[in-house]
Amino acid sequence: MSSTISPTSRPLDTAERSRFRRLMQAYPFRDGGFERWIGARLAVVGAGMLGARLCEEAVLAGANVIVFDPDVGELANLGNQTCRPGRFKVDVVKQRCDAIRPGHLTAIPCDVRHANLRWLRGCTVWFDCTDDPNLAWPLTELSNGFDRVMFRCAVDGSGQTEIGRVLCSAGGSGHACQCCSYDPQDLFRSHRRTPCPGQSGPESPPTLAGGALAAGTAGLALSLAQRTIVGKDTDRILGHEFILDWTGFQMLHLRLPRAEGCLTGHRQWETMDLDVDDASGTLSEVFAAAEHAIGGSEIELETYLHPWNVQASCQCGAVACAVGTDWAVPPRCPKCSNRMQWLKEIQVAKATREQAASWGILANSLETLGVPRGAMFVARAGGHAARRLLLRWPKEGSQAQEGRRT
Ligand SMILES: [Zn+2]
Ligand SMILES: [Zn+2]
Repeated sequence: MSSTISPTSRPLDTAERSRFRRLMQAYPFRDGGFERWIGARLAVVGAGMLGARLCEEAVLAGANVIVFDPDVGELANLGNQTCRPGRFKVDVVKQRCDAIRPGHLTAIPCDVRHANLRWLRGCTVWFDCTDDPNLAWPLTELSNGFDRVMFRCAVDGSGQTEIGRVLCSAGGSGHACQCCSYDPQDLFRSHRRTPCPGQSGPESPPTLAGGALAAGTAGLALSLAQRTIVGKDTDRILGHEFILDWTGFQMLHLRLPRAEGCLTGHRQWETMDLDVDDASGTLSEVFAAAEHAIGGSEIELETYLHPWNVQASCQCGAVACAVGTDWAVPPRCPKCSNRMQWLKEIQVAKATREQAASWGILANSLETLGVPRGAMFVARAGGHAARRLLLRWPKEGSQAQEGRRT
């Protein structure tokens, strides 16, 4: 078992001892488990009907949580979510959690694929509460790469049954990952959720499920995570799927075989810190630091999860050459001055210094190019193994603003 699953214990102060005295005697936490649990950080992706409930219960029970979700609440959510129309869902979750235990939840109103990867890496276990097929692959690859346990929670949103499920994976630690059952077609199938930034995209189907089922499923996921963190029952949790069949009044516990030929390769990553300021640094500085780290000059750099757009188009029919990730602001149209849209049919995953120079972006700041703080670059050079380089941690106290830089 990897040591990353069980965080180090931390002693409780007097106030915590009185507050959690009873909880410390509950099944998951008795025999010293609570000291490990309270030292854990949880990453929750999605602040909807599952994620918001999970966050509140986790903070109530003593955990520290980071929650990611770019969504804003709508009137139609109010039957099964505690959000507010027109406000970021994570901000409402933060307000509620601060009322329980102030300062134990960090709200990031941003797509997790554009969030600071150091934050995800700094969390002991992750919850994917989105049921978004477009996030399944990147989150699984990341959780394998950083060797983190991930719980994927979902409810049947068809309105036909009351069924929830929690899939518990740890691909970096010898168990099944979330994608062990995938075949290549699963990767290329067109998924309907999560439009890219700035695009409304096709509407995702609404989730037709009640909050009671969501509360049960979120509670199950949290309970499984608590036991995993304190080291109880882990062999019956990791690499298993739990199905909460409330229509048929039963819970199923299924083992998920680890596929040795899994498409993710179950690769664990070694990362190096890239000492480039992620606020003001330029792409040229990233190339220089990467060349230094890898010991070569003919390197190709891939900005992980952030391929380069190289053209933009306008509704008036004009097309212009410009370079930036999906999160960069596209240029204005040279003909009609309206804001253009990135032409996503043509994206380039990696570039050499010469290519970047020919695009004229070497001196551009990472921020204007749409590269997030804590981004990962994969550097490859002939004859060298690929190195993964993480932009350095932002300064203390810059967290709140950082989440809002999109
Ligand atoms: Zn796998
Ligand atoms: Zn135009």
